[in-house]
Amino acid sequence: MTTVAERRELLKGVYEQARGCTRCPLHQTRTNAVFGAGNADADLMFIGEAPGANEDRMGLPFVGQAGKLLDKLLAEIGLERKEVWICNVLKCRPPDNRDPQPNEIESCREYLLSQVELIEPVVICTLGNFSTKLLRADTTGISRLHGQAETRIIGARAVRLYPLFHPAAALYTPSMLETLRTDFQRLPDLLALGPPEQPQVVEPLPEPELQDPEPEAPPEATEPVAAAQLGLF
Ligand code: URA
Repeated sequence: MTTVAERRELLKGVYEQARGCTRCPLHQTRTNAVFGAGNADADLMFIGEAPGANEDRMGLPFVGQAGKLLDKLLAEIGLERKEVWICNVLKCRPPDNRDPQPNEIESCREYLLSQVELIEPVVICTLGNFSTKLLRADTTGISRLHGQAETRIIGARAVRLYPLFHPAAALYTPSMLETLRTDFQRLPDLLALGPPEQPQVVEPLPEPELQDPEPEAPPEATEPVAAAQLGLF
């Protein structure tokens, strides 16, 4: 069992990796990697698509109009941004806000999985098609899936996956906004269910030590985390 403090430290480590990531060409055009922000101990996680221009500039997710709508919907169910974790499938902005490409999604997948593993959310809301398809490993679209919770194994954990329309799409389509709001209102009940039953973990037996262990390498020095850009509470 990791403590919250340990979890925050581990998350900062993953943030440092993402901040210097060069796994795909998007690092060449980003201003800031947008790792995610919120509570490292959150029960509720939101996963959007990719940073836009505002997010790229500020290094924080959902700071534009779609983010304001997300804040409003959260407030309507009595939650604040600092109580949840908000991130994206991609940590770097695609030029001209084009769709994420398969190689970019694949390059960034590990960061997202680390976030799920460390934060251990009870409910994950995928916002829109990209995160829904990635986490369900299926091509079914958001129009068919929104508002239907299902238990899914992500990494080593079972979570309640709850696909929602992307707030950016709802901004300009009133009927979609009403559906998003209705789906949002069901979140408190979903959270109240608590975590789904977890898969059994079979602990491997420790390997017998046959030789003297290698001396441990000293830890690498890391730059201090830019707290404002991680937005960690
Ligand atoms: N849209 C997203 O998917 N993510 C953001 O961070 C902002 C807008």
